[in-house]
Amino acid sequence: MLRTQTTLKTSVSIEGVGLHSGHPVRASFRPAPAGHGIVFRRLDRPETEIPARVESASTFDYATTLSRDGVSVGTVEHVLSAAFGEGLDNCVIELDGPEVPILDGFVRLFHAAGFERLDAPVRSLSSSEPVRVSRDGRSVSFQPDGPGLTITYEIDFPHPVVGRQELTVAIRPEEYSTRIAPARTFGFAKDVEAMRARGLARGGSLHNAVVLDDAGVLSGPLRFRDEFVRHKVLDLVGDLALLGVALNGHIHARKAGHAMHIEFARALAASVETHGVRDVPAESARRRASR
Ligand SMILES: [Zn+2]
Repeated sequence: MLRTQTTLKTSVSIEGVGLHSGHPVRASFRPAPAGHGIVFRRLDRPETEIPARVESASTFDYATTLSRDGVSVGTVEHVLSAAFGEGLDNCVIELDGPEVPILDGFVRLFHAAGFERLDAPVRSLSSSEPVRVSRDGRSVSFQPDGPGLTITYEIDFPHPVVGRQELTVAIRPEEYSTRIAPARTFGFAKDVEAMRARGLARGGSLHNAVVLDDAGVLSGPLRFRDEFVRHKVLDLVGDLALLGVALNGHIHARKAGHAMHIEFARALAASVETHGVRDVPAESARRRASR
């Protein structure tokens, strides 16, 4: 299962709007050397590079934000999910604004650029201990039965179109690009006004999200009957990408969200540090996980 690290063959860029800010933003993806990882750079604050690492994750209300030295980048989870799902290990992501655009085209963009194999093995996390975080009937747990990463996600929304959905999927490029990457973010129309009053969801629309009212879907046909749980898998993969390593094991999530995904990622990083693997910088992870 050992594979070598990758980067993009060439630079590519794409434009969209920020899901929460509503501002237009251009994202450019540039090749980076082995060991560099995924790093964000805002063109208006070019002196501060923001690594896609769990210790940089700051607020996670409706999305995951990364911050360093007072500079932040919002809604990173979908682009990081595409990178992790497709096996892109090293890349500089330049943005001309504070938020990643809301798009489902990142995988196609990476394929258009092509992948370059680098002369270094991928670091992977193989904890021998189960890890679990849970609260109020919500949970995320890890069982060390690799090789590779398998995710099972369960959701249960009291809504006629959503209801209870469960999906198990092996996170490999061919499965990810066809079964997970197309699944769009979703939200409830009744929440949108309150979110917009708080400065959120201003770029969300019927064109880039699945919007539900009490009876059904307002935004046209679903891409999959279970598009909702598929998007939850996509979000979890994006948050796990912040560990910066490949994962071996089975992760089972139940009715979780970004905050619990990040809490779980920190607990997993801390458990690995305890068991002697040094690849994950676990000092901050352990501190936060024990709060
Ligand atoms: Zn999402």
